[in-house]
Amino acid sequence: MYHQPVLKNRRTLLERAEKFVSDIYFTDCNLRGRLYGDSRPLESVTSFLSPKRITFREASQQNFAPYRVGDTFGPTWWTCWFKLTLNIPESWRGREVHLLWESDGEAMVWRDGQPVQGLTKEGEKTSYILSACLKDEEPHSVSLYVEMACNGLFGAGQGSMIAAPDPNRKFSVQRAELVIFNRDVRELLTDFEMLIDIVKELGEGKQRGYQALFTVNEMVNLCEPSDPSTFPRIHSLAHNFFSQRNGDSQHIVHAMGHCHIDSAWLWPYEETIRKCGRSWVTVIRLMETNPDFVFTCSQAQQFQWVKSWYPGLFSQIQHFVKKGQFIPVGGTWVEMDGNLPSGESMVRQFLEGQRFFNQEFGIHCKEFWLPDTFGYSAQLPQIMQGFGITNFLTQKLSWNLVNTFPHNTFFWEGLDGSKVLTHFPPGNSYEMKGKIQDLVKTVENNKDKGRANHSAVLFGFGDGGGGPTQLMLDRLSRVRDTDGLPKVQTSSPNKLFSQLRSDSALLCTWSGELFLELHNGTYTTEAKIKRGNRQCETLLHDVEVASCLALCRDPTFKYPVEKLQKLWRLLLLNQFHDVIPGSCIEMVVEDALRYYEDIRSDCTALLRDACGALASKGKGAGVFNSLSWERHEVIQTQDGAGEPDLALVRVPSVGLAPVTNTEPVSPVSVTVQANGAVTMENGILQTVVNKDGTLASLYLINANREAISDSCHGNQFVMFDDVPLYWDAWDVMDYHLQTRKPVLEVVQPVHVTSSGGLRGSLSFSLRISDKSTITQTIVMDAMCPYIKFSTEVKWAESHKFLKVEFPVRVHSPNATYEIQFGHLQRPTHRNTSWDWARFEVWGHKWADLSEHNFGVALLNDCKYGYSVHKNTMTLSLLRAPKAPDSNADMGTHHFTYAIMPHTGSFQGASVIQSAYNLNFPLRLIRCIPNSAPWSAFSVSAEAVILETVKQAEDRKEAFIVRLYESHGSSVTATFRTTLPVREAWHCDLMERQDSTQPAPMTSGGITLNFSPFQIMSLLLIL
Ligand SMILES: [Zn+2]
Repeated sequence: MYHQPVLKNRRTLLERAEKFVSDIYFTDCNLRGRLYGDSRPLESVTSFLSPKRITFREASQQNFAPYRVGDTFGPTWWTCWFKLTLNIPESWRGREVHLLWESDGEAMVWRDGQPVQGLTKEGEKTSYILSACLKDEEPHSVSLYVEMACNGLFGAGQGSMIAAPDPNRKFSVQRAELVIFNRDVRELLTDFEMLIDIVKELGEGKQRGYQALFTVNEMVNLCEPSDPSTFPRIHSLAHNFFSQRNGDSQHIVHAMGHCHIDSAWLWPYEETIRKCGRSWVTVIRLMETNPDFVFTCSQAQQFQWVKSWYPGLFSQIQHFVKKGQFIPVGGTWVEMDGNLPSGESMVRQFLEGQRFFNQEFGIHCKEFWLPDTFGYSAQLPQIMQGFGITNFLTQKLSWNLVNTFPHNTFFWEGLDGSKVLTHFPPGNSYEMKGKIQDLVKTVENNKDKGRANHSAVLFGFGDGGGGPTQLMLDRLSRVRDTDGLPKVQTSSPNKLFSQLRSDSALLCTWSGELFLELHNGTYTTEAKIKRGNRQCETLLHDVEVASCLALCRDPTFKYPVEKLQKLWRLLLLNQFHDVIPGSCIEMVVEDALRYYEDIRSDCTALLRDACGALASKGKGAGVFNSLSWERHEVIQTQDGAGEPDLALVRVPSVGLAPVTNTEPVSPVSVTVQANGAVTMENGILQTVVNKDGTLASLYLINANREAISDSCHGNQFVMFDDVPLYWDAWDVMDYHLQTRKPVLEVVQPVHVTSSGGLRGSLSFSLRISDKSTITQTIVMDAMCPYIKFSTEVKWAESHKFLKVEFPVRVHSPNATYEIQFGHLQRPTHRNTSWDWARFEVWGHKWADLSEHNFGVALLNDCKYGYSVHKNTMTLSLLRAPKAPDSNADMGTHHFTYAIMPHTGSFQGASVIQSAYNLNFPLRLIRCIPNSAPWSAFSVSAEAVILETVKQAEDRKEAFIVRLYESHGSSVTATFRTTLPVREAWHCDLMERQDSTQPAPMTSGGITLNFSPFQIMSLLLIL
């Protein structure tokens, strides 16, 4: 030991140690400079360029031409295949030999026709280990293939990560050679780096930091980089420091490897398949040499991709799943958006996910895993519980722009009172690197100090970075139990949550939604994706209902099980948390819209088949109603040019009826006034529409109430400047509200397009700018309690936001918004920071603003963004962000919204049913003329909605019906069916029959007791 006095200069000692491991300074004499030994060029490198992503077999049969390291190739999204021949010198016997590969694309190494490792510079993976300790009997002459995608970890954004991809980027390989890797140097570097980080992270206030400083200083004193015989002594100095243990009270970190792979984002779905392959094969390599290494992996869809593209890798994964190292988590098909998918879609996310994990791995996930989504619906806890999931892990609320979420470990209570144990890793990341700062941050940030002594650390590069590295594992294993730092244990979600649960007495509860105060533009961006989602959810619903009914009415009908699973999976895939929010590149939008088109066309055919079987394909016109209440509506009975034929039809719940035109109690009257305004009236509503299409008046006749606020106009289009701080497609900022400009320029004033009777309608058009226009038809139907606004917008704006406003004569501190299987309230004022941070919120088919005994509802058929401030109800219509899709939302859009004033409460006024009616059109079918109306299901209580009718999974002779309480009330309902049901049972969302809970059938039906917002599933056995 050198016993020289050391001056009290923390800075010089620290920087000296840093320079000793620097890869920039003094590498001629420092330790870092010794990391690699001898190197050799490769024997030969040849390449072949493909515009498509092809299989190994196909690639290996191509002609390869010589490639010189440094030469460029491309363009973006192509694939360059390399064939390498290498000769390892015999003199390297006993040494660790690597293929060093540095390129700016993402690469996969193939050996003997199998994928063996991913190589991504951005994920610190530039070495493929050819031999850990070269022996004479090992092959010295090796040939490999490298498949290199012409895109980076984050795609190919030009200038900024989220910029639209540059389609003409060129790529190159900067290094390809054989090297000797000095493992002992690497180990020592890790010791040094960890100690240096301890000095820096613990700061000047902790004496433990000084102990690290003097340890590392002594290590530099003693280390002779060129003489490995000095290494063991230095390593043992570090080891002594790391082995000084903690007391019993120290915080415990549960370290889990992870690789968050976005199913599509700044790259298309197809590239994600390869990202999964590259990342997971790298993880498997690490598992082979690190038996303690645990990796958590979500999204059944990605496993399905790997299963079909890399079957060999998939069986290796199955092997490590069995060993408990590779842990499928989350229980969902993809990590979906937490706001926009319908209730049934969310159920299917879990149903497809849990069933897949069960079939492939025999695993049932007990945790929901959604680290990276833009808010979480208040119905998720109940849905999780329905799938046997009691734990939830996320961290995204750490991105809140305004308020700091107060908990890291807490119980999250949903809309119906269901609770799940929830953990936000306090390090606020799902891509940690196992560094000291990750550990220190995890303890210091923890907002439940003293309540929860366990936290998760998820480490690994995401998105094609290939997950964890050996270095991360080495870092964490150094400090398993080191005084002054949290204890680190390799863990799993089950271990973490059972620890948290066993000591949960002091935990707080957060009730209601987890609203992300950021990314509120994602409720509106890429309107066509939103529309595709809503329409396809509706179509799949109708196909399932009609197919179940058809099965009972026509014994030859076959329920389209495989087809429906395929279509559902496509819909679920598009609900991924960068696709349905619209935060993806144009290529992804194109894929998503194509998938919606596939779902639409297949569902239309399936629906035609099912309705044909259902109604015996007669010659008469009939109508099919897939909803669980009787409907009395005006429908269009024929398409084509000219005036449409209309009929007012009455159709029973979940059933059909022939078209027999009934007379309305009160026909619609349309009157043009002298000033050009038009009055329409249907006995329920009377409205006055100004020449510019705004509503001067909307009058609820029986209640004698005007709905539009004094001296204001309803249906007012407004434009806002919409320039966020960075996240273009994602964010609309609070300050956009200061830039409101009404759309006032009339191109064509209001004129009558249907003169009344069953339907009155008016059309007009407005100019938004010299590039964009709105054309709208305002429709009033006989018997209909709302007015529809059928809208076409030609949209070519840049960083603008189009909304429509209804200032209404209602005073209330809260507005109500539909969410999955229910609704919730949000404030209309901006008292606190928590209130004003919700200046733009999401809702599904309707929002309502009510005071006692009167209110107004705003319905829509494909929108999700709302705001209600004071008495103005606003629906968000279109945005125009330019990144990451530079053409986002450009083009022609169609959507419909509706306004519905009502007396009483929105529940009593059937706002919920009206919004369903707007979204689920009655469908024209062919039926036997004059056949009697027929109903398959009915529910006695208006509060209870029959949401889903489907064939039970794996049980051809049984149906699942899913009902929910929609009013927020405790209610008893009678559920009736005319189908030949033999017995009925309660079941969970997994469709597992609860043998303790029969649902007794009497001649009157099945009596069901609901609590507020309860979701109830029944298994009906035929
Ligand atoms: Zn993500």
